[in-house]
Amino acid sequence: MEDLYREHILDHYKNPRNQGTLENPDITFQDSNPLCGDELRMDFKVKDGVVEDVRFSGKGCSISMAAASMLTEHIKGRSVEELKKLTREDILEDLGIELGPVRLKCALLALKVLKAGVYGIQGWPGEDE
Ligand code: ZN
Repeated sequence: MEDLYREHILDHYKNPRNQGTLENPDITFQDSNPLCGDELRMDFKVKDGVVEDVRFSGKGCSISMAAASMLTEHIKGRSVEELKKLTREDILEDLGIELGPVRLKCALLALKVLKAGVYGIQGWPGEDE
């Protein structure tokens, strides 16, 4: 079963969905995971509280990039309020493999960037560890 998930991760890493940047995004945020060297930026187009488009860019390990790619697939067409409710379990379920503490940071970088973006950095309650 783990192998299936690993292939799924590699597929997203090699063929990332929604990769790139948006012109004049309504929301943009970037952050990094110094433990691994992952860097991630996400751009959002938001209209009437609903995400119309999303792109991610950056560089990093397969876990961080695959998690970002998977996350963007969930985002389009959903309301900003819904995105605020996404949890780390949603990300980890998508990835489907057991992760050590270092890899966990890689996996959750996408969620961190998303949350900080949709809340606005001032309004962001912070990482729920
Ligand atoms: Zn990483």
